[in-house]
Amino acid sequence: MTEGALRRIGIMGGTFDPIHYGHLVAAEAARAAFDLEPVLFVPNRLPPHKKDYPVSDAKHRYLMTVLATITNPHFEVSRVELDREGYSYTIDTLRLLRAKFGPTVDLYFISGADAILDLLSWKDVDDLLGLCYFIAATRPGYKLSVELGHLQRKHASRVFTVEVPALAISSTDIRRRVREGKPIKYLLPESVENYIYKHGLYYSKAPAEDK
Ligand code: ATP
Ligand code: MG
Repeated sequence: MTEGALRRIGIMGGTFDPIHYGHLVAAEAARAAFDLEPVLFVPNRLPPHKKDYPVSDAKHRYLMTVLATITNPHFEVSRVELDREGYSYTIDTLRLLRAKFGPTVDLYFISGADAILDLLSWKDVDDLLGLCYFIAATRPGYKLSVELGHLQRKHASRVFTVEVPALAISSTDIRRRVREGKPIKYLLPESVENYIYKHGLYYSKAPAEDK
């Protein structure tokens, strides 16, 4: 970090059901590109956009996130959303973190291409962009260009992109693989894989994923 510059903290929000290498690679790429210290992984409690999908117990998602991030000295896990009642709205989380860290830090919210495109539909988008910068990571299967071009034109100094080595991994696919008895090795850290099997996660079919 250049002298006199504000400390930059990264925030990687997600359901992490389970956390996988796509999340970790995106967070690490953003950390390196924007000099973030630390990157806070923030598992959400009740994501508003996944209301219909039965998300795994917060305890499991928190512990898997801890296991996955433990070997990276720049990564930390925050319970800020888990310890808050009700749905997890990013705007509330950012306000809390802003109050916690004070005005001497810059906050950088990291998200994949699909999540940043959702941002366009968030009702408090202007407030959000006033609280933090956004880093959109490339993700296979999602086009960043068109919508992000629109966002970037409007908020040029607040929205950035970072190129991530493409990993077509998703939690949905990992859950499906476990259910179908297919391997998940090399898609996520071994410690998380072992945790999933030990606790019997994802074996039963979730109604929303019964396609
Ligand atoms: P699900 O399939 O359950 O939606 P997910 O794999 O999309 O799970 P989330 O917890 O929803 O994981 O995602 C958290 C954040 O990580 C989001 O901003 C998402 O865009 C980003 N992300 C997830 N997978 C990748 C990936 N393979 N590459 C880049 N970013 C990713
Ligand atoms: Mg997702």
